[in-house]
Formats: sequence, C-alpha cells, structure tokens
Amino acid sequence: MTPLLQVDKLVKRYGGLVATDHVSLALQSGELHAIIGPNGAGKTTLIGQLGGEVRPDSGSIHFDGHDITAVPTAQRALRGLARSFQITSVFPEFTVLENVVLAMQAHCGHSFGFWKPVLQQAELVEPARHAIGQAGLRHRTDAPVAELAHGERRQLELAMVLVAKPKLLLLDEPMAGMGHQESGKVVDLLAGLKGGYTILLIEHDMDAVFALADRISVLVNGRIVASDTPAAIRVNEQVRMAYLGDEELPS
Ligand code: ATP
Repeated sequence: MTPLLQVDKLVKRYGGLVATDHVSLALQSGELHAIIGPNGAGKTTLIGQLGGEVRPDSGSIHFDGHDITAVPTAQRALRGLARSFQITSVFPEFTVLENVVLAMQAHCGHSFGFWKPVLQQAELVEPARHAIGQAGLRHRTDAPVAELAHGERRQLELAMVLVAKPKLLLLDEPMAGMGHQESGKVVDLLAGLKGGYTILLIEHDMDAVFALADRISVLVNGRIVASDTPAAIRVNEQVRMAYLGDEELPS
C-alpha cells in the first residue's frame, strides 16, 4: 500500500547544526504515528517542514501521491494536510460555533453565500457542530472564545482543523500546558479520532504517546534512531539511553 505520507532523507541545517539529519518516515492511512525525542532533538523542525513553514535543504516529502516538498503551507492545507497549533486567527469575542464556522468558510474559500449570516447556512453550521462535538466542546458551542479555559482553547483549535476534514492531521504538542485531568480528556478525544484520521503526533506526554500511538519514531540529534510499536520502543536500549535524564518512558 502506498503510504499517505512519505518522507525521504530530509535534511535541514542551521549553520553547522544538522537539525534534521536524513529523516525518512512513512505513514499509512489511518495510522496514529507519534514522534518523540529529547529536548532539541528536532521535532519542531521536522513538523515545520511537513507543514511547509520550514524549507528543507534536501530530501523530499510526498503526500497523497504528490511531491509537496516545495508546496506552500496554504496549498498543503487545501490538499488535506492540516496542522493544529496555536491558531492566531481566533476571534475571542465570537462564540466557539462562530469561530469554527469561520474556519470552515476560510477552508472552503468563498463558495458559500457571503451575503447570508453564516449561522443561517446549514452547510457550514452542521459540519461545524460535528467538529465541535468531535473536539469535546459541545457544551461550549455558544460560549464566547474569550471565556474558554486553556485546555478548551486547544480543543477549539482541534475543532477548527477537524472541520476541514483533513487527510492528515499534524498535532504539535496538543497537551502542552494542560493539567493531568485536561490531558486525559484530550487522550480520550484522540482515541476517538483514531482510525478515522491519519495522525502525526508530537508530544512530550509519554503516557499519552504510549497509550495512543500505533507506531512511535524516536528522534535523537535530528536522526530517527528507532521506529516501531510502543511495546518495542519501550524496551529499545538505544531509546532508553537517549531518555536518561530527560522525560521518563512509562514502565
Ligand atoms: P523541544 O522538544 O525542546 O521543543 P525539538 O525536538 O522540537 O525541541 P527543535 O526545536 O526542532 O527541537 O530544534 C532542533 C535543533 O535545531 C536545536 O538545537 C535548536 O536549537 C535548533 N534550531 C531550531 N530552529 C532553529 C533556527 N531557526 N535557527 C537556528 N537553530 C535552530
């Protein structure tokens, strides 16, 4: 089966530092693949290259059968490669529903009747409500975004990405800054999305990663040192060495 995402020998240098060192990676449709690695291993740089914000020095990225190595971020999103991270274009005084509807409208371009109030357009509102439910925010549908707690705001970001029905979801530390209870909620949400979406997850919360991932790739100094099932990664000696003094692998 052709992988949905195929990364081949990707290299990114910052001066003398090789932040991405010949990284190759393949994601099958429906897989939840996690990338872990100690601080400074190159996770953010790698996801930046997948999202299109960082230009690789060499190597290639194929997505859904096309070479997207040089394709700009916005076009990658239109092709179904969506990255969820701190979204700046949230309107705090608007409700959750309004923000998700606007995200849907932005994704679809102008094809909906702009003269009609957006909340009267069922073709926008229904998918938005669905995405809000998927992100676990149904009870906050009509709340102004300014009133959301930190964790709820991250859930909103997820809803704003899900509404575009991405083929591949790049999740960059979705649990960052969350307490135990909040991150547990996000683990449950992602478990619910598993299988229906192809997900590349970068996350420091090892309990979450080991609970969710089908496969885990471990980055150390820009290189993938292991790519395997959670059970195999847990007992991989090279991985344990890389993590000494850093985040604990769950036992
Ligand atoms: P963390 O887990 O701490 O977020 P990371 O695994 O995401 O780390 P990166 O942020 O990708 O790692 O950084 C990899 C290396 O590249 C680090 O040594 C970092 O200092 C360096 N680096 C990242 N971005 C730049 C940049 N724009 N200019 C110079 N060096 C950079």
